[in-house]
Amino acid sequence: MSSFSLFGTSLKNLFSKPATKMYPAKPFEPFEATRGHVSIDIEKCILCGLCHRSCPVGAITVVREDKSWSIDALRCITCNDCVSRCPVSCLTMEVQYMPIAIGESISTFVKPEPKEEPEVEAEAGSEEEAELEAETEVEAEAEPE
Ligand code: SF4
Ligand code: SF4
Repeated sequence: MSSFSLFGTSLKNLFSKPATKMYPAKPFEPFEATRGHVSIDIEKCILCGLCHRSCPVGAITVVREDKSWSIDALRCITCNDCVSRCPVSCLTMEVQYMPIAIGESISTFVKPEPKEEPEVEAEAGSEEEAELEAETEVEAEAEPE
């Protein structure tokens, strides 16, 4: 490259828009067909292990006893197989940036215990007891001394 064309390129670059993305100053916009990374809604997961068995690189581990689902982000090749096979559609491909991985690349999610339903029968029982108590009090007041 002659010094003249080098000077021309430098001058052009001085007044043109930067070729790089201005992240994080500007929000990240994924390219078309970006696959992203696997994300799970752990509350919906039924721990069937289908994703674990079908992953071609063994990136997913499901341990039913611990109610845990883990993924090794550095092993995953974003083939989308687990997402398409999940019977309850709790896996998705997220196109946003992942948090910076420092050291461990395995993320583990534990399925929370189901929320306890309010004890309707016990409440009904206590209402009945309250009514019975009120009736007893009225009867006691009505009795001559
Ligand atoms: S296939 Fe879906 S429901 Fe089954 S263990 Fe994997 S994430 Fe959970
Ligand atoms: S996207 Fe493919 S490689 Fe990644 S965890 Fe799912 S099945 Fe495995």
